[in-house]
Amino acid sequence: MKYVDTRIVFAEVPDEVTLAINISNCPIRCEGCHSQHLWKDIGEPLTESSLNLLIEKNTGITCVCFMGGDIEPDEINRLAGHIRQSYPHLKIGWYSGQEWFSIFAEYKNFDYLKLGPYIKKLGGLTSPKTNQRLYKVDGYVLRNITSRFWKICNK
Ligand code: SF4
Repeated sequence: MKYVDTRIVFAEVPDEVTLAINISNCPIRCEGCHSQHLWKDIGEPLTESSLNLLIEKNTGITCVCFMGGDIEPDEINRLAGHIRQSYPHLKIGWYSGQEWFSIFAEYKNFDYLKLGPYIKKLGGLTSPKTNQRLYKVDGYVLRNITSRFWKICNK
């Protein structure tokens, strides 16, 4: 699995300063995708050691969010577990284009999960019509907090 670049973002995960890692080789292929360069298998390998470097270089972050990675969901889960163990003060998020994670029996390696492909006519998370959802993970329960985006972005 490879990543193309990273950004520090403030709105993708509410109340967090997030290191967003843009992962390539996206298999979802949403119509109207705003990041088609991520369809290609390009970038640098995303491993435990490259993740450590990214986290340690970006002091002040409170969260790490995997943007994509649907090509290898087990690997995302494994890397999230590594962050949980090595950097327990950080929150962990995953922006996936899948409708649902049927492969996971539990979500303990994540604090936030965004699900759903991008559908242009419905818009992204900031659109009240969106099909996408952002969940806060609470043990085995996923709490839908998508409406937080409408409050933040439509003030
Ligand atoms: S999941 Fe994201 S990167 Fe992948 S096709 Fe959809 S919008 Fe593009």
